[in-house]
Amino acid sequence: MTRSSITIVGASLAGLRAAESLRRQEFDGPITLIGDEPHAPYDRPPLSKQFLAGDWDEEKLALTKPEKLADHDLTFRLGTRATAFDLATRRLSLDDGDSLEVDGLLIATGARCRTLPGTEDMEGVFVLRGLDDSLAIRAALDAGPSRVVVVGAGFIGAEVAATARERGLDVTLVEALPQPLGRVLGDEMGAVCADVHREHGVDLRVGVGVDAIEGDDRVERVRLSDGSVIDADAVVVGIGVIPNTEWLEGSGLEIDNGIVCDATCLAAPGVTAAGDVARWPNHRFDEFMRVEHWDNAVEQGGHAAKRLLQSDDEAEPFMPVPWFWSDQYDRKIQLAGRIRPDDDMQIVTGSVEERRFAALYGRAGKFVGVLGFNRPRHVMQYKTLIQQGVSYDEALAAEI
Ligand SMILES: Cc1cc2nc3c(=O)[nH]c(=O)nc-3n(C[C@H](O)[C@H](O)[C@H](O)COP(=O)(O)OP(=O)(O)OC[C@H]3O[C@@H](n4cnc5c(N)ncnc54)[C@H](O)[C@@H]3O)c2cc1C
Repeated sequence: MTRSSITIVGASLAGLRAAESLRRQEFDGPITLIGDEPHAPYDRPPLSKQFLAGDWDEEKLALTKPEKLADHDLTFRLGTRATAFDLATRRLSLDDGDSLEVDGLLIATGARCRTLPGTEDMEGVFVLRGLDDSLAIRAALDAGPSRVVVVGAGFIGAEVAATARERGLDVTLVEALPQPLGRVLGDEMGAVCADVHREHGVDLRVGVGVDAIEGDDRVERVRLSDGSVIDADAVVVGIGVIPNTEWLEGSGLEIDNGIVCDATCLAAPGVTAAGDVARWPNHRFDEFMRVEHWDNAVEQGGHAAKRLLQSDDEAEPFMPVPWFWSDQYDRKIQLAGRIRPDDDMQIVTGSVEERRFAALYGRAGKFVGVLGFNRPRHVMQYKTLIQQGVSYDEALAAEI
């Protein structure tokens, strides 16, 4: 398939990796990346970890070196937002008034944070998605607040709580579900994370919602649904994300909790999507998924780029084993695969008590997931077994 040019909307992880992959595949036509942030592509995971802790500076976040970018001959239009696309005419409109006719289009616009209504402009209340968010939270933590409240104990909330606590701050972590990370890890393993936070001195409140965030000029307190009130001078809200698809309404693309793609990451002829914004059927797990992990943005960016250069006959399904890590205190938590609360689970090495173990998950005889606490080698080796499609029994018997 020959293409005269490729336009990538979203100049971050998936978008940049897609562009690099196009050059690796010897696509030598023009590649334009359009990104609404003013910054050159940077990495997000450190924003809740090393960067927030004050251990890394901005330079260390760069996703690529300037020399490498020059080699790839990419055109960046940063600080520019795509406002509309029309599939029929292939016209892409930008917020600077320009419009482009695109040939190949790869969409990697990621996701943005959910907010608590009414708190968006309240001083001292933050969300964390981008560099500017992390800088603002870091400045608030530098000011030595007497009490930090983190709302939502998903991965971002739990990491922010850990980082703030390691900076010696007084931290309350509030979660509506019975356990932190319960949605991803289930209650049993969520309880292990709860213990880790409590052992580090976090005031963890679970099974309780937030009724109001209050204050006059700035945040002063958080009122919980059990009637308790927590004084706060910095609040970080981590209650999930929404895929950035509004600009595609009326485009002719199907939007449903992300950009709906086929198994090969194709959303329409000559249009692919990748990263946090893409939803596609992953045949390995018989599941339609949208994955919000770093590794997926990298892999799917590459796959969606390649797809733009392939005919329908050449195209291959994208069937990764989803994988992520999270760093909290001195624990590296990693999960590969797709697990559900009713899966069978067995610990194969280490123990929950030492907070260092690998647990395997099986469903209907199939090996579907591995969770590791400070067991990176095990997670990667078991991930390979999931990829190979071994049975649960075979995984349990494997010598790793
Ligand atoms: C604080 C934080 C910590 C994380 N830690 C981990 C971790 O430890 N492990 C892990 O596996 N994953 C982690 N992640 C998730 C990982 O960073 C994301 O999955 C990854 O960034 C997704 O890449 P993406 O390119 O799809 O989307 P994004 O990184 O969100 O990039 C999308 C880009 O498109 C831009 N954009 C949006 N709309 C438009 C538009 N209309 N026009 C132009 N540009 C637009 C956005 O501003 C953004 O720059 C973390 C995420 C965050 C925020």
